[in-house]
Amino acid sequence: MRLLVIFLLLFSFALNFFFIVTGNSRFFILTGAAVLPIILSAYFDTKAISLVILFGGCLCALVPFFFGAGPFLIIVILLFFVAAYLIVGENKKKFLASRDNLNSKIAQSKEAFEKLIDENDKSDNINKGINRESKDIEDLYEVTKRMSAFLKFDEIFKILCAELKNTFEFDDCRIINIKTIRGSIQINEIYNIQIEMKISDAKTYDPKIIETVCQQKNTLKMASVKTEAEKLGLSLPRRVETVLAIPLLTEGEIRSVVIAENVRPEDFEKFAIVIGQFALETHKVKLYELVEKLAITDGLTGLLLKRHFLESLKKEIKRSLSNRLKIAILMLDIDHFKKYNDRYGHLVGDSVLIRISEIIRDHTREIDLISRYGGEEFCLALPETDKEGAYAVAERIRVQIERENFMTEGEFTRATISIGLACFPNDGRGAVQLIDMSDQALYEAKNSGRNSTCVYKRTV
Ligand code: GH3
Ligand code: MG
Ligand code: MG
Repeated sequence: MRLLVIFLLLFSFALNFFFIVTGNSRFFILTGAAVLPIILSAYFDTKAISLVILFGGCLCALVPFFFGAGPFLIIVILLFFVAAYLIVGENKKKFLASRDNLNSKIAQSKEAFEKLIDENDKSDNINKGINRESKDIEDLYEVTKRMSAFLKFDEIFKILCAELKNTFEFDDCRIINIKTIRGSIQINEIYNIQIEMKISDAKTYDPKIIETVCQQKNTLKMASVKTEAEKLGLSLPRRVETVLAIPLLTEGEIRSVVIAENVRPEDFEKFAIVIGQFALETHKVKLYELVEKLAITDGLTGLLLKRHFLESLKKEIKRSLSNRLKIAILMLDIDHFKKYNDRYGHLVGDSVLIRISEIIRDHTREIDLISRYGGEEFCLALPETDKEGAYAVAERIRVQIERENFMTEGEFTRATISIGLACFPNDGRGAVQLIDMSDQALYEAKNSGRNSTCVYKRTV
Protein backbone atom coordinates (compact mmCIF):
# COMPACT_ATOMS: atom_id res chain seq x y z
CA MET A 1 0.00 0.00 0.00
CA ARG A 2 2.72 2.43 0.97
CA LEU A 3 4.57 1.65 -2.24
CA LEU A 4 1.41 2.47 -4.24
CA VAL A 5 1.09 5.82 -2.37
CA ILE A 6 4.72 6.67 -3.08
CA PHE A 7 4.20 5.80 -6.70
CA LEU A 8 1.04 7.98 -6.93
CA LEU A 9 2.81 10.87 -5.19
CA LEU A 10 5.70 10.74 -7.61
CA PHE A 11 3.24 10.50 -10.45
CA SER A 12 1.24 13.58 -9.24
CA PHE A 13 4.44 15.57 -8.75
CA ALA A 14 5.36 14.73 -12.33
CA LEU A 15 1.88 15.82 -13.52
CA ASN A 16 2.10 19.09 -11.51
CA PHE A 17 5.44 19.81 -12.97
CA PHE A 18 4.00 19.17 -16.42
CA PHE A 19 0.96 21.46 -15.78
CA ILE A 20 3.11 24.24 -14.36
CA VAL A 21 5.32 24.04 -17.40
CA THR A 22 2.28 24.03 -19.79
CA GLY A 23 0.42 26.77 -17.73
CA ASN A 24 -2.79 24.71 -17.36
CA SER A 25 -4.05 25.83 -13.90
CA ARG A 26 -7.27 23.71 -13.92
CA PHE A 27 -5.29 20.51 -14.17
CA PHE A 28 -2.99 21.80 -11.53
CA ILE A 29 -5.89 22.12 -9.04
CA LEU A 30 -7.13 18.67 -10.07
CA THR A 31 -3.90 16.97 -9.29
CA GLY A 32 -3.50 19.09 -6.11
CA ALA A 33 -6.90 17.87 -4.86
CA ALA A 34 -5.84 14.27 -5.51
CA VAL A 35 -2.52 14.57 -3.66
CA LEU A 36 -4.08 15.39 -0.26
CA PRO A 37 -6.22 12.18 0.05
CA ILE A 38 -3.27 10.19 -1.22
CA ILE A 39 -1.14 11.54 1.63
CA LEU A 40 -3.97 11.05 4.16
CA SER A 41 -4.60 7.47 3.09
CA ALA A 42 -1.00 6.66 3.90
CA TYR A 43 -1.73 7.32 7.60
CA PHE A 44 -4.28 4.51 7.93
CA ASP A 45 -3.19 0.95 8.29
CA THR A 46 -6.51 -0.53 7.26
CA LYS A 47 -6.79 -1.14 3.55
CA ALA A 48 -10.56 -0.36 3.40
CA ILE A 49 -10.21 3.13 4.93
CA SER A 50 -7.18 3.98 2.84
CA LEU A 51 -8.94 2.90 -0.35
CA VAL A 52 -12.12 4.86 0.52
CA ILE A 53 -10.08 8.03 1.19
CA LEU A 54 -8.03 7.51 -1.93
CA PHE A 55 -11.06 6.78 -4.05
CA GLY A 56 -13.04 9.68 -2.43
CA GLY A 57 -10.13 12.04 -2.99
CA CYS A 58 -10.09 11.14 -6.67
CA LEU A 59 -13.85 11.60 -6.91
CA CYS A 60 -13.61 15.00 -5.16
CA ALA A 61 -11.10 16.05 -7.72
CA LEU A 62 -12.98 14.71 -10.74
CA VAL A 63 -16.63 15.52 -9.87
CA PRO A 64 -16.33 19.34 -9.69
CA PHE A 65 -14.17 19.21 -12.77
CA PHE A 66 -16.87 17.46 -14.79
CA PHE A 67 -20.24 18.05 -12.93
CA GLY A 68 -19.94 21.25 -10.91
CA ALA A 69 -20.12 22.14 -7.13
CA GLY A 70 -23.55 20.56 -6.09
CA PRO A 71 -22.78 16.87 -6.65
CA PHE A 72 -19.28 17.56 -5.34
CA LEU A 73 -20.64 18.66 -1.94
CA ILE A 74 -23.03 15.64 -1.72
CA ILE A 75 -20.21 13.27 -2.47
CA VAL A 76 -17.93 15.00 0.05
CA ILE A 77 -20.59 14.63 2.80
CA LEU A 78 -21.31 10.99 1.85
CA LEU A 79 -17.65 10.22 1.83
CA PHE A 80 -17.20 11.92 5.18
CA PHE A 81 -19.87 9.66 6.75
CA VAL A 82 -18.55 6.50 5.13
CA ALA A 83 -15.02 7.34 6.28
CA ALA A 84 -16.25 8.24 9.76
CA TYR A 85 -18.24 5.02 9.97
CA LEU A 86 -15.26 3.00 8.85
CA ILE A 87 -12.86 4.80 11.19
CA VAL A 88 -15.18 4.39 14.22
CA GLY A 89 -15.77 0.71 13.30
CA GLU A 90 -12.09 0.19 12.95
CA ASN A 91 -11.36 1.88 16.27
CA LYS A 92 -14.07 -0.17 17.94
CA LYS A 93 -12.48 -3.34 16.59
CA LYS A 94 -9.11 -2.16 17.79
CA PHE A 95 -10.57 -1.25 21.17
CA LEU A 96 -12.28 -4.64 21.50
CA ALA A 97 -9.11 -6.42 20.43
CA SER A 98 -7.00 -4.46 22.88
CA ARG A 99 -9.62 -5.03 25.59
CA ASP A 100 -9.51 -8.82 24.91
CA ASN A 101 -5.76 -8.63 24.90
CA LEU A 102 -5.80 -6.75 28.19
CA ASN A 103 -8.28 -9.24 29.69
CA SER A 104 -6.13 -12.20 28.66
CA LYS A 105 -3.08 -10.44 30.08
CA ILE A 106 -4.99 -9.80 33.32
CA ALA A 107 -6.02 -13.50 33.39
CA GLN A 108 -2.42 -14.52 32.76
CA SER A 109 -1.07 -12.30 35.48
CA LYS A 110 -3.82 -13.51 37.84
CA GLU A 111 -2.78 -17.09 37.12
CA ALA A 112 0.85 -16.17 37.64
CA PHE A 113 -0.07 -14.42 40.88
CA GLU A 114 -2.01 -17.44 42.11
CA LYS A 115 0.95 -19.67 41.23
CA LEU A 116 3.18 -17.33 43.14
CA ILE A 117 0.90 -17.50 46.20
CA ASP A 118 0.82 -21.27 45.83
CA GLU A 119 4.61 -21.42 45.69
CA ASN A 120 4.77 -19.08 48.64
CA ASP A 121 2.45 -21.34 50.65
CA LYS A 122 4.54 -24.34 49.70
CA SER A 123 7.79 -22.67 50.72
CA ASP A 124 6.04 -21.52 53.90
CA ASN A 125 5.15 -25.13 54.67
CA ILE A 126 8.69 -26.28 53.84
CA ASN A 127 10.03 -23.56 56.14
CA LYS A 128 7.69 -24.64 58.91
CA GLY A 129 8.82 -28.25 58.39
CA ILE A 130 12.48 -27.23 58.52
CA ASN A 131 11.82 -25.14 61.65
CA ARG A 132 10.01 -28.05 63.30
CA GLU A 133 12.82 -30.45 62.41
CA SER A 134 15.51 -28.11 63.68
CA LYS A 135 13.47 -27.62 66.88
CA ASP A 136 13.27 -31.42 67.25
CA ILE A 137 17.04 -31.73 66.75
CA GLU A 138 17.58 -28.93 69.25
CA ASP A 139 15.29 -30.66 71.80
CA LEU A 140 17.06 -33.95 71.23
CA TYR A 141 20.43 -32.30 71.70
CA GLU A 142 19.18 -30.78 74.97
CA VAL A 143 17.93 -34.16 76.28
CA THR A 144 21.20 -35.82 75.31
CA LYS A 145 23.14 -33.05 76.99
CA ARG A 146 21.09 -33.36 80.17
CA MET A 147 21.40 -37.16 80.20
CA SER A 148 25.10 -37.16 79.52
CA ALA A 149 25.72 -34.97 82.56
CA PHE A 150 24.91 -37.95 84.79
CA LEU A 151 26.70 -41.20 85.42
CA LYS A 152 24.02 -43.08 87.33
CA PHE A 153 21.18 -45.08 85.79
CA ASP A 154 18.54 -43.66 88.18
CA GLU A 155 19.37 -40.08 87.22
CA ILE A 156 19.28 -40.78 83.48
CA PHE A 157 16.03 -42.71 83.91
CA LYS A 158 14.44 -39.71 85.69
CA ILE A 159 15.42 -37.39 82.80
CA LEU A 160 14.03 -39.84 80.25
CA CYS A 161 10.70 -40.05 82.13
CA ALA A 162 10.38 -36.26 82.34
CA GLU A 163 11.29 -35.80 78.67
CA LEU A 164 8.84 -38.43 77.40
CA LYS A 165 6.01 -37.13 79.58
CA ASN A 166 6.62 -33.49 78.59
CA THR A 167 6.96 -34.12 74.86
CA PHE A 168 4.67 -37.00 73.93
CA GLU A 169 1.16 -38.25 74.49
CA PHE A 170 1.08 -41.90 75.54
CA ASP A 171 -0.76 -44.10 77.99
CA ASP A 172 1.66 -46.68 79.27
CA CYS A 173 5.36 -47.08 78.67
CA ARG A 174 7.70 -49.66 80.16
CA ILE A 175 11.33 -50.57 79.88
CA ILE A 176 11.42 -54.35 80.09
CA ASN A 177 14.83 -55.85 80.79
CA ILE A 178 15.07 -59.39 79.49
CA LYS A 179 17.47 -62.31 79.53
CA THR A 180 17.53 -65.35 77.31
CA ILE A 181 17.94 -68.65 79.11
CA ARG A 182 18.37 -71.69 76.86
CA GLY A 183 16.55 -69.99 73.99
CA SER A 184 13.60 -68.78 76.03
CA ILE A 185 13.11 -65.09 76.80
CA GLN A 186 12.57 -64.22 80.44
CA ILE A 187 11.60 -60.90 81.96
CA ASN A 188 14.25 -59.70 84.39
CA GLU A 189 12.94 -56.35 85.58
CA ILE A 190 10.41 -53.72 84.50
CA TYR A 191 10.62 -49.94 84.82
CA ASN A 192 7.41 -47.94 84.47
CA ILE A 193 7.98 -44.55 82.83
CA GLN A 194 4.73 -43.00 84.09
CA ILE A 195 5.31 -43.66 87.77
CA GLU A 196 9.07 -43.32 87.26
CA MET A 197 10.06 -46.46 89.12
CA LYS A 198 10.86 -50.15 88.95
CA ILE A 199 7.75 -52.33 89.25
CA SER A 200 7.23 -55.99 89.92
CA ASP A 201 4.05 -56.57 87.96
CA ALA A 202 4.75 -58.40 84.71
CA LYS A 203 1.16 -58.16 83.43
CA THR A 204 -0.22 -56.67 80.25
CA TYR A 205 1.95 -57.75 77.41
CA ASP A 206 1.45 -60.62 75.15
CA PRO A 207 4.94 -62.21 75.30
CA LYS A 208 4.71 -62.50 71.52
CA ILE A 209 5.36 -58.75 71.22
CA ILE A 210 8.76 -59.17 72.89
CA GLU A 211 9.45 -62.36 70.91
CA THR A 212 8.55 -60.63 67.63
CA VAL A 213 10.79 -57.66 68.40
CA CYS A 214 13.66 -59.97 69.41
CA GLN A 215 13.30 -62.05 66.24
CA GLN A 216 13.11 -59.03 63.93
CA LYS A 217 15.75 -57.08 65.91
CA ASN A 218 13.80 -54.08 64.73
CA THR A 219 11.31 -51.57 66.10
CA LEU A 220 7.74 -52.80 65.88
CA LYS A 221 5.43 -49.94 64.87
CA MET A 222 1.72 -50.65 65.02
CA ALA A 223 -0.06 -47.46 63.97
CA SER A 224 -3.37 -49.30 64.08
CA VAL A 225 -3.48 -52.23 66.48
CA LYS A 226 -6.90 -53.29 65.13
CA THR A 227 -5.51 -54.29 61.75
CA GLU A 228 -1.85 -55.04 62.48
CA ALA A 229 -2.08 -57.03 65.72
CA GLU A 230 -4.26 -59.62 64.01
CA LYS A 231 -1.70 -60.08 61.22
CA LEU A 232 1.01 -60.84 63.82
CA GLY A 233 -1.34 -62.97 65.90
CA LEU A 234 -1.07 -60.68 68.95
CA SER A 235 -3.78 -60.06 71.47
CA LEU A 236 -3.83 -56.64 73.06
CA PRO A 237 -6.29 -54.91 75.39
CA ARG A 238 -9.07 -52.95 73.65
CA ARG A 239 -8.03 -49.53 74.87
CA VAL A 240 -4.71 -49.91 73.03
CA GLU A 241 -4.83 -48.25 69.62
CA THR A 242 -1.13 -47.99 68.76
CA VAL A 243 1.91 -49.89 69.98
CA LEU A 244 5.54 -48.95 69.63
CA ALA A 245 8.01 -51.66 70.71
CA ILE A 246 11.68 -50.68 70.55
CA PRO A 247 14.51 -53.20 71.10
CA LEU A 248 17.59 -51.88 72.90
CA LEU A 249 20.75 -53.63 71.78
CA THR A 250 23.93 -53.98 73.80
CA GLU A 251 26.86 -55.55 71.93
CA GLY A 252 24.47 -57.04 69.36
CA GLU A 253 22.21 -58.63 72.02
CA ILE A 254 18.74 -57.39 72.91
CA ARG A 255 18.81 -56.78 76.66
CA SER A 256 15.70 -54.57 76.90
CA VAL A 257 12.51 -53.81 75.00
CA VAL A 258 10.64 -50.53 75.47
CA ILE A 259 6.89 -50.87 74.87
CA ALA A 260 4.76 -47.74 74.63
CA GLU A 261 1.00 -47.67 74.14
CA ASN A 262 -1.07 -45.08 72.32
CA VAL A 263 1.82 -42.93 71.13
CA ARG A 264 0.62 -40.89 68.11
CA PRO A 265 1.96 -42.52 64.91
CA GLU A 266 3.45 -39.19 63.76
CA ASP A 267 5.57 -39.20 66.95
CA PHE A 268 6.89 -42.78 66.50
CA GLU A 269 10.17 -41.67 64.92
CA LYS A 270 11.05 -39.02 67.49
CA PHE A 271 9.97 -41.24 70.40
CA ALA A 272 12.27 -44.01 69.15
CA ILE A 273 15.16 -41.54 68.80
CA VAL A 274 14.80 -40.38 72.44
CA ILE A 275 14.69 -44.00 73.61
CA GLY A 276 17.75 -44.79 71.46
CA GLN A 277 19.59 -41.90 73.07
CA PHE A 278 18.64 -43.21 76.52
CA ALA A 279 20.00 -46.65 75.53
CA LEU A 280 23.32 -45.09 74.52
CA GLU A 281 23.55 -43.19 77.78
CA THR A 282 22.75 -46.26 79.93
CA HIS A 283 25.34 -48.24 77.98
CA LYS A 284 27.84 -45.49 78.79
CA VAL A 285 26.85 -45.70 82.48
CA LYS A 286 27.37 -49.48 82.46
CA LEU A 287 30.82 -49.07 80.92
CA TYR A 288 31.66 -46.40 83.48
CA GLU A 289 30.48 -48.64 86.33
CA LEU A 290 32.53 -51.50 84.91
CA VAL A 291 35.67 -49.36 84.71
CA GLU A 292 34.99 -48.08 88.23
CA LYS A 293 34.53 -51.65 89.48
CA LEU A 294 37.69 -52.85 87.74
CA ALA A 295 39.61 -50.04 89.40
CA ILE A 296 38.56 -51.12 92.90
CA THR A 297 38.19 -54.88 92.64
CA ASP A 298 40.57 -57.77 92.33
CA GLY A 299 40.60 -59.41 88.90
CA LEU A 300 40.69 -63.02 90.18
CA THR A 301 38.07 -62.99 92.93
CA GLY A 302 36.06 -59.82 92.22
CA LEU A 303 36.54 -58.76 95.86
CA LEU A 304 37.60 -55.24 96.91
CA LEU A 305 41.26 -54.31 96.62
CA LYS A 306 43.12 -53.47 99.85
CA ARG A 307 43.31 -49.70 99.08
CA HIS A 308 39.59 -49.28 98.40
CA PHE A 309 38.75 -51.53 101.38
CA LEU A 310 40.74 -49.27 103.72
CA GLU A 311 39.04 -46.11 102.35
CA SER A 312 35.60 -47.68 102.79
CA LEU A 313 36.45 -48.91 106.27
CA LYS A 314 37.52 -45.41 107.33
CA LYS A 315 34.16 -44.02 106.12
CA GLU A 316 32.33 -46.81 107.93
CA ILE A 317 34.25 -46.05 111.16
CA LYS A 318 33.18 -42.37 110.93
CA ARG A 319 29.54 -43.34 110.43
CA SER A 320 29.67 -45.89 113.29
CA LEU A 321 31.34 -43.39 115.60
CA SER A 322 28.56 -40.83 115.22
CA ASN A 323 25.85 -43.51 115.45
CA ARG A 324 27.56 -45.42 118.27
CA LEU A 325 27.63 -48.63 116.22
CA LYS A 326 30.06 -51.53 116.28
CA ILE A 327 32.12 -52.94 113.43
CA ALA A 328 33.70 -56.39 113.43
CA ILE A 329 36.93 -57.04 111.54
CA LEU A 330 37.80 -60.58 110.36
CA MET A 331 41.20 -61.50 108.96
CA LEU A 332 41.19 -64.84 107.08
CA ASP A 333 44.27 -66.75 105.86
CA ILE A 334 44.40 -70.10 104.07
CA ASP A 335 46.36 -72.72 106.00
CA HIS A 336 49.51 -74.16 104.44
CA PHE A 337 48.59 -72.72 101.11
CA LYS A 338 52.17 -72.78 99.91
CA LYS A 339 52.16 -76.56 100.25
CA TYR A 340 48.82 -76.74 98.49
CA ASN A 341 50.21 -74.80 95.55
CA ASP A 342 53.31 -76.96 95.47
CA ARG A 343 51.22 -80.09 95.37
CA TYR A 344 48.43 -79.16 92.97
CA GLY A 345 49.89 -76.26 91.06
CA HIS A 346 49.16 -72.52 91.00
CA LEU A 347 46.11 -72.79 88.72
CA VAL A 348 44.36 -75.15 91.10
CA GLY A 349 45.38 -72.82 93.93
CA ASP A 350 43.67 -69.97 92.01
CA SER A 351 40.44 -71.92 91.66
CA VAL A 352 40.49 -72.52 95.46
CA LEU A 353 40.87 -68.75 95.99
CA ILE A 354 37.86 -68.13 93.71
CA ARG A 355 35.70 -70.74 95.48
CA ILE A 356 36.64 -69.44 98.96
CA SER A 357 35.64 -65.91 97.82
CA GLU A 358 32.24 -67.27 96.78
CA ILE A 359 31.77 -68.99 100.14
CA ILE A 360 32.64 -65.77 101.96
CA ARG A 361 30.14 -63.83 99.82
CA ASP A 362 27.44 -66.44 100.46
CA HIS A 363 27.84 -66.01 104.23
CA THR A 364 27.91 -62.22 104.39
CA ARG A 365 25.47 -59.35 103.74
CA GLU A 366 25.32 -56.67 101.00
CA ILE A 367 26.58 -54.03 103.44
CA ASP A 368 29.65 -56.05 104.53
CA LEU A 369 33.00 -55.03 103.05
CA ILE A 370 35.01 -58.00 101.72
CA SER A 371 38.53 -57.61 100.40
CA ARG A 372 41.33 -59.71 99.07
CA TYR A 373 43.81 -58.17 101.44
CA GLY A 374 46.92 -60.08 100.31
CA GLY A 375 47.80 -63.15 98.22
CA GLU A 376 45.66 -65.68 100.11
CA GLU A 377 44.42 -63.38 102.85
CA PHE A 378 40.95 -61.89 103.07
CA CYS A 379 39.87 -59.03 105.31
CA LEU A 380 36.21 -58.45 106.13
CA ALA A 381 34.49 -55.52 107.85
CA LEU A 382 31.01 -56.28 109.19
CA PRO A 383 29.18 -53.04 110.13
CA GLU A 384 26.73 -53.00 113.02
CA THR A 385 28.09 -56.35 114.27
CA ASP A 386 29.49 -57.18 117.70
CA LYS A 387 32.10 -59.82 118.63
CA GLU A 388 29.54 -62.58 119.23
CA GLY A 389 27.78 -62.01 115.95
CA ALA A 390 31.07 -61.81 114.03
CA TYR A 391 32.37 -64.96 115.69
CA ALA A 392 29.30 -66.86 114.51
CA VAL A 393 29.80 -65.62 110.95
CA ALA A 394 33.52 -66.51 111.06
CA GLU A 395 32.78 -70.02 112.27
CA ARG A 396 30.13 -70.60 109.60
CA ILE A 397 32.63 -69.59 106.90
CA ARG A 398 35.42 -71.67 108.42
CA VAL A 399 33.28 -74.80 108.78
CA GLN A 400 31.88 -74.42 105.26
CA ILE A 401 35.43 -74.25 103.83
CA GLU A 402 36.54 -77.19 105.95
CA ARG A 403 33.70 -79.26 104.49
CA GLU A 404 34.12 -78.13 100.92
CA ASN A 405 35.42 -80.51 98.25
CA PHE A 406 37.66 -78.44 96.04
CA MET A 407 37.69 -80.02 92.62
CA THR A 408 41.04 -80.57 90.96
CA GLU A 409 41.76 -82.65 87.88
CA GLY A 410 40.39 -86.02 88.87
CA GLU A 411 40.45 -85.69 92.68
CA PHE A 412 38.78 -83.77 95.48
CA THR A 413 41.03 -81.72 97.75
CA ARG A 414 40.56 -80.07 101.09
CA ALA A 415 41.60 -76.71 102.50
CA THR A 416 41.17 -74.95 105.81
CA ILE A 417 41.44 -71.38 107.00
CA SER A 418 42.36 -69.57 110.19
CA ILE A 419 40.55 -66.42 111.30
CA GLY A 420 41.43 -63.54 113.60
CA LEU A 421 38.70 -61.26 114.98
CA ALA A 422 38.82 -57.73 116.37
CA CYS A 423 36.07 -55.22 117.06
CA PHE A 424 35.47 -51.47 116.83
CA PRO A 425 35.49 -49.50 119.09
CA ASN A 426 36.71 -51.81 121.90
CA ASP A 427 39.94 -53.06 120.25
CA GLY A 428 40.89 -49.90 118.36
CA ARG A 429 39.52 -46.73 116.76
CA GLY A 430 41.51 -46.48 113.54
CA ALA A 431 41.21 -48.71 110.46
CA VAL A 432 44.87 -49.76 110.36
CA GLN A 433 44.95 -50.35 114.12
CA LEU A 434 41.87 -52.57 113.97
CA ILE A 435 43.30 -54.60 111.10
CA ASP A 436 46.48 -54.99 113.09
CA MET A 437 44.54 -56.35 116.05
CA SER A 438 42.68 -58.86 113.88
CA ASP A 439 46.05 -59.90 112.41
CA GLN A 440 47.37 -60.54 115.90
CA ALA A 441 44.31 -62.71 116.62
CA LEU A 442 44.98 -64.58 113.35
CA TYR A 443 48.53 -65.20 114.45
CA GLU A 444 47.06 -66.72 117.63
CA ALA A 445 44.81 -68.96 115.53
CA LYS A 446 47.77 -70.15 113.49
CA ASN A 447 49.75 -70.83 116.63
CA SER A 448 46.98 -72.77 118.24
CA GLY A 449 46.91 -75.34 115.47
CA ARG A 450 45.16 -73.54 112.55
CA ASN A 451 41.61 -74.16 111.18
CA SER A 452 40.16 -72.06 114.01
CA THR A 453 38.81 -68.58 114.87
CA CYS A 454 40.58 -66.48 117.53
CA VAL A 455 39.20 -63.33 119.10
CA TYR A 456 41.65 -60.54 119.90
CA LYS A 457 42.32 -60.14 123.60
CA ARG A 458 44.11 -57.22 125.11
CA THR A 459 47.26 -58.47 126.81
CA VAL A 460 47.69 -55.51 129.14
P1 GH3 B 1 50.25 -70.56 106.80
O1 GH3 B 1 49.35 -71.63 107.20
O2 GH3 B 1 51.25 -70.24 107.85
O3 GH3 B 1 49.53 -69.36 106.31
O4 GH3 B 1 51.05 -71.18 105.62
P2 GH3 B 1 51.08 -70.65 104.17
O5 GH3 B 1 51.82 -71.62 103.31
O6 GH3 B 1 49.75 -70.30 103.70
O7 GH3 B 1 51.95 -69.41 104.36
P3 GH3 B 1 51.75 -68.00 103.75
O8 GH3 B 1 50.43 -67.50 104.13
O9 GH3 B 1 52.90 -67.17 104.12
O10 GH3 B 1 51.87 -68.42 102.23
C1 GH3 B 1 51.33 -67.66 101.19
C2 GH3 B 1 51.25 -68.54 99.99
O11 GH3 B 1 50.10 -68.28 99.27
C3 GH3 B 1 52.41 -68.35 99.07
C4 GH3 B 1 51.82 -68.49 97.71
O12 GH3 B 1 52.23 -69.74 97.18
C5 GH3 B 1 50.32 -68.52 97.92
N1 GH3 B 1 49.69 -67.50 97.12
C6 GH3 B 1 49.65 -66.16 97.35
N2 GH3 B 1 48.94 -65.54 96.37
C7 GH3 B 1 48.50 -66.53 95.52
C8 GH3 B 1 47.70 -66.51 94.31
O13 GH3 B 1 47.26 -65.49 93.83
N3 GH3 B 1 47.45 -67.72 93.73
C9 GH3 B 1 47.92 -68.88 94.25
N4 GH3 B 1 47.62 -70.01 93.65
N5 GH3 B 1 48.68 -68.90 95.36
C10 GH3 B 1 48.96 -67.74 95.99
MG1 MG C 1 49.31 -65.56 104.26
MG1 MG D 1 48.42 -68.91 104.59
